[in-house]
Amino acid sequence: MRRLLPPAAAPSSLARPIMGLILLACALLAGLQVWHSLSERRERLRSLEVEAANLARSLAQHTDDRLQMASAILAGASERVLADGTGPAARQRLDRILRAQATTFEGGADFLILDAEGAAVAGTPAGRRIADIGQELSAETMAAAAQPERGTGDVQLRAPVYVPARRGWVIPLQRRIETPQGEFAGLALALLDAGTFAQYFARFDLGPNGAVALLDTKGRLLSRHPFQRAAIGRSLAGFALFRDKLPRQTADSFTTVSPVDGVRRIAAYQQARSFPLVVLVARARDPALAGWRTDTLWRGGVTLVVTGLLALLGLRLGRALGRRQQSERLLAESEASFRLLAERSSDVVVRLGLDGRRRYVSPASEALLGHAPTALMGGMALDEVEEADRAEVQDALARLLSGEAEQMSLACRMRHADGRLIWVEAAIRATFAPVTGQPDGAVAVLRDITAHKAREAELATQAGTDGLTGLLNRRRFDEVLRREWDRAAREGTALSLLMLDIDRFKLFNDRYGHPAGDGCLRRVAVAVAAAVRRPGDMVARYGGEELAVILPRTDAAGAASVAESVRAAVAAELVPHEGNPPVMVVTSSLGAATAEPRPGLAFGPEALVAAADGALYGAKRSGRNQVAMADNVPPLPPSAPRPVDEASRLAAVEAFRSAGATAPGDVELERIARVAAMLFGMPMALISVVGRDRTDFAATHGLDAEGASRDDAFCSHAIAGSDDTLVVPDLATDPRFAGNPLTVAPEGFRFYAGAVLRSPEGDHRLGTLCVLDRSPHPPLNTEQKALLADLAALAVQRLEQRRLAPSTVS
Ligand code: GH3
Ligand code: MG
Ligand code: MG
Repeated sequence: MRRLLPPAAAPSSLARPIMGLILLACALLAGLQVWHSLSERRERLRSLEVEAANLARSLAQHTDDRLQMASAILAGASERVLADGTGPAARQRLDRILRAQATTFEGGADFLILDAEGAAVAGTPAGRRIADIGQELSAETMAAAAQPERGTGDVQLRAPVYVPARRGWVIPLQRRIETPQGEFAGLALALLDAGTFAQYFARFDLGPNGAVALLDTKGRLLSRHPFQRAAIGRSLAGFALFRDKLPRQTADSFTTVSPVDGVRRIAAYQQARSFPLVVLVARARDPALAGWRTDTLWRGGVTLVVTGLLALLGLRLGRALGRRQQSERLLAESEASFRLLAERSSDVVVRLGLDGRRRYVSPASEALLGHAPTALMGGMALDEVEEADRAEVQDALARLLSGEAEQMSLACRMRHADGRLIWVEAAIRATFAPVTGQPDGAVAVLRDITAHKAREAELATQAGTDGLTGLLNRRRFDEVLRREWDRAAREGTALSLLMLDIDRFKLFNDRYGHPAGDGCLRRVAVAVAAAVRRPGDMVARYGGEELAVILPRTDAAGAASVAESVRAAVAAELVPHEGNPPVMVVTSSLGAATAEPRPGLAFGPEALVAAADGALYGAKRSGRNQVAMADNVPPLPPSAPRPVDEASRLAAVEAFRSAGATAPGDVELERIARVAAMLFGMPMALISVVGRDRTDFAATHGLDAEGASRDDAFCSHAIAGSDDTLVVPDLATDPRFAGNPLTVAPEGFRFYAGAVLRSPEGDHRLGTLCVLDRSPHPPLNTEQKALLADLAALAVQRLEQRRLAPSTVS
């Protein structure tokens, strides 16, 4: 089995857009993912900035609050100096107050009161260390402080100072003490520990590389977390923050790359409300985005895998679709060409389904079967097949559809719409499902071979032999039987005929198929021919599975014996036949008939055939596989006996006939006949002359006939007997005349009495003078017989007269 496969498919018209669509979907999915990730990143950065800004704001607030509190303490102390003066008692009290306030001040601070010359008056820490701290405040500073600084408020922040005694940086906050007259009376100082700011800032987690810085608005670094002692006091005034941003906005957030470590940070600053301070919060951007990055990486990976799979799937789908479209196109093309071929062909193309139904019938069916294709479609394959051939066709189909055979051809008869039988040659091929490779039906090509078959049959007939068995055919059989019949009639011999019929042959065909049936028939023919040995015997195929054997010169006993050996020979072939119990092999039944044909018989050889056939069916009825003899061979009608001197007698008769002595119309002879009838009281009388085949009447009385066949005429019997008279009281019951048509009622003769006419020369029996009646009578007595004989003698005299002088007698 071959299957058509499309060549490696190029993406077809439909496949390409589908593949494009799938790729577009993949791209969209990936794009969506990227967009989503980017916007998430943006959100994340935004929220980081907001967090930083919030933190900056709250830290600035906190710092502002602390400085406000310190300012309040400084204001209180200043008032007390101006009110109480700087006497010992006042200074003691001021010391106490300031110490108490210093301990309650969150984060730790020292408070100090200096007089106009810069000497410590009171404050924390203990008096002896005040000078140490004071030392750090240069004279310059004091001088600057002494100048009224309008516009900067009462409280001023100063640059951070490193105090070696404290081993740390302090941020000084100073307040000018002025007399009510506006004279400089000293300074109230709060020394805030820079480290405590940093400690406070450390409470907030800013991740790796995160930092919080406290600066004044001029860019001086006051404190920082993580704390770096060396950096305190450094000026960052050159940075863009102080140069560009702060002058415009008191708070903002931004991204920046650190010039120190190159780390990219998200930063936010907030200027304090009441003091020239700025809190700057920064956190490294990359660690903050780590979560987002991991997420994005995962999601990206998954998206990549999914879109990859999708694209692959789309590609394969597209390819498969392309292949399918291509094979569909090829299929459509081949279907179109199949149809073209089928519809143009003079042969009928039939497509059969697995169920044996016709799925397609080509238009040639109109010409072949006389049916339109539409009338045949949907019908069964066997519908138009002749009954006798169905088994064979069915068998072939079964073998094809079961996959046992791929191709078969056979000849069968089909019924044309007009009723006649046509011979069809069918070439049938199984077809196979493309996917499973299993048979899915068959295609049959039907061709009309009726003419071919007829020619074949004609040739066989001319040859006189039967195509299948090689025996004489039916026509030849008829000829031979007629010939043998005539020969037997001439020679006076017997002729026998055997008729043979295979037993239960229909079942054989049904079971083993028609072709096997044909084979069996051939074997039987060979067996029969072999069993019949005499050279003159002839075997013929009488018809179907019936054979006939002509046995010339064979009587009934001989026919019975030949028939038995034929029957035995067929059975001895031992051809299995399961439908033929009890022997289960092929057997035959025979009928035998014998006839003794004679010239002039009212029937011919067909009576012999009928008798043998009758016997054959007797054999069938009695159980088959046996011989039956015809018990009713048509009885040979009695032929009239011949006298011993027949040849010379016929010569004598001829002498009278040729002389015209027997010609009817002689008044004398007619009178003799009339007298005889009257004397015997019979309605009819006649004078006959018996020839070779016919009996002619020279004179008649009471009936109008010129003669009869020799076999029928009663006179033929009269001239063959030993007596000179023949009297038959009742012809109907006399066996010698059984079957004689002249005796058949109602017009038939019943009584006959005839006296022989003896020729004067040679004493030959020429014919009779007889009287007849249509009813029986008692036999004649002796006188009556003598009287009849006398009248016969008168008739002979008259015939002799006419023979000798034909012209003189009238
Ligand atoms: P029976 O014993 O009564 O004779 O039974 P049967 O089935 O033989 O009956 P019958 O003689 O009526 O059947 C004749 C069958 O023989 C009909 C047909 O199927 C078959 N037949 C006649 N001619 C042929 C032939 O040329 N070839 C084959 N294969 N079968 C034939
Ligand atoms: Mg038959
Ligand atoms: Mg039969």
